Amino acid sequence: MANKAQDNERLTVVIFGASGDLTHRKLAPALFHLYKTGALPQICHFVGVARSEMDDASFRESLYTGVEEAEIGKYGEWAEFASRISYIQGSSTDAESLQRIDSAVSAASTDSARDDRIYYLALAPHLYAPTLTALGAAGMLDQANGFRRVVIEKPFGTDLASAQKLNETVHSVLQESQVFRIDHYLGKETVQNLLVFRFANTIFEPVWNRNYVDHVQISVLESVDTAGRGEYYDEAGVLRDMMQSHLLQLLALVAMEPPATSTANALRNEKAKVLQSVRKYNIDQAAENSVRGQYQGYRDEEGVAESSGTATFGAIRLQVDNWRWQGVPFYLRSGKALQSKVSEIAIQFRPPPHTIFETHGPDVTPNLLRIAIQPHEGVHLTFENKKPGTRMGTAPETLEYHFPPQVIRDSYERLLLDAIEGDQSLFTRSDEIEVSWEIIDPFVNGWHNSLKSQLYAYGKGTRGPKAADEFLGPVRKWHDDREDEG
Ligand code: NDP
Repeated sequence: MANKAQDNERLTVVIFGASGDLTHRKLAPALFHLYKTGALPQICHFVGVARSEMDDASFRESLYTGVEEAEIGKYGEWAEFASRISYIQGSSTDAESLQRIDSAVSAASTDSARDDRIYYLALAPHLYAPTLTALGAAGMLDQANGFRRVVIEKPFGTDLASAQKLNETVHSVLQESQVFRIDHYLGKETVQNLLVFRFANTIFEPVWNRNYVDHVQISVLESVDTAGRGEYYDEAGVLRDMMQSHLLQLLALVAMEPPATSTANALRNEKAKVLQSVRKYNIDQAAENSVRGQYQGYRDEEGVAESSGTATFGAIRLQVDNWRWQGVPFYLRSGKALQSKVSEIAIQFRPPPHTIFETHGPDVTPNLLRIAIQPHEGVHLTFENKKPGTRMGTAPETLEYHFPPQVIRDSYERLLLDAIEGDQSLFTRSDEIEVSWEIIDPFVNGWHNSLKSQLYAYGKGTRGPKAADEFLGPVRKWHDDREDEG
């Protein structure tokens, strides 16, 4: 039951692109669950907009499939929620359609109720700018009668220049406080736990620096291939699809300085600051500090060019040029069609400066902290322990904490609620987006030039190209689930 806010607060969530995959698989289940748990304002409505011909009943029915798949409700509960959903056939860039939408939403308002609105752009990225311009021209972003917030999906631009241009359009019709650029990784429980882990404990922060940390690995590995999205993926590749957004956001949370407060701006200031400290390479340096790969069979997929040079796997080495991290490499790795689906951050600590014990190998195993983002969400800390017996040998053991699976909700739920409540902490600010592109663009350009960077083939269902192991050097190795299974 919706019950959160006052009687005079009325919320409408307008989803542009409502006939699409994101709405069905993520947004409708997330909104339904929020409604069921009483997290939404008492008076709330949901309006789907797309060009396809549908009436309210068939739109509601189509959304129910996503809810069924997410296993979050019975049809009876859904029916009450569904009565608040309507569908308007139209285009997000068309003045006449927007006028119909605006009139329909306004007409449902009473004199006393505020008319708060969230516009969710679940649209192809090329429609973000024209849609925002059209919403501005229609007067639908004016906040005289209630808030107007816009959620913008990723990807936000395809390089620095396009992101800057899009930000210009955004700021021509909206204040930054109205903009919610979504990166659903930040909605994950384990990603937010990074903040708690670092800043609600005292024992980790003193060693969270170049004096104790050897290197950091951030891996987002997928077992799925492009899954029918070949046309989009062939343009994007792993750098634009994953590195510029999810992986750099994770790097920012791992490497940033402690914010003074938990407000959105304090947090985003620190994230932006550390991203600004990441060394900006030229294209030769970017090629030297990276490995790229493509899985076999990728070029046969629908929508992919026959001679495509798009990387479906990438590993890059970044340096953060500040006092805390000088000389500590950050390795970012992501790819598709790999052996397992794993998202994880590994903080590899330095070995003790001198060993006095007999060990299982040539040296004691240095401490390792692994933050498992998915699956098995939790934290693993590996430390040396005495090997039982009469000798003074050591062996690594691991302390583990795992979140109970039932507490893990889909990240869209948390992020939609934050947008409704106006909390921008987990949304990306314009400067963060732009500096992220500044970091990634040289890799895109270096990889584009095949003379500077070789494209390695790898088999589907493997760990990616062998060159990625060599890239880490003879001593360092990737920490991923294979070791657990192993
Ligand atoms: P889809 O292509 O499945 O859906 C987009 C929908 O937009 C289409 O169904 C289309 O329907 C509608 N549309 C097209 N033009 C207009 C228009 N002018 N006005 C209103 N509606 C229009 O895309 P997704 O749902 O997969 O993705 C949407 C956005 O979310 C993209 O930017 C994507 O990058 C991002 N995203 C998606 C994720 C996912 O899991 N799907 C994950 C992360 C980000 P119609 O023809 O009926 O108008």
